Amino acid sequence: MTVKKRFIAGAVCPKCGEMDRIVMFDQDDQSVRECVSCGFTDAMRYEVAVNQPATRLDQTAKAGQSEQATEVVKLVGLDS
Ligand SMILES: [Zn+2]
Repeated sequence: MTVKKRFIAGAVCPKCGEMDRIVMFDQDDQSVRECVSCGFTDAMRYEVAVNQPATRLDQTAKAGQSEQATEVVKLVGLDS
């Protein structure tokens, strides 16, 4: 298993206060923050909702469509 570590831009280490030193990686079902400067680590448990982002995107797309439809109705109403 490859652990992908990624830097979090602009993140400040709560321990040493250094910026751009925080990496994040997944370990088991946890998301772990680690400061490469002082060695601070902080594990955050994942919410068991892997499919949610896709669902949210789908809902957003649908909401956008209905918003457009509402706009058309409004314009027609103003004209008459
Ligand atoms: Zn640190």
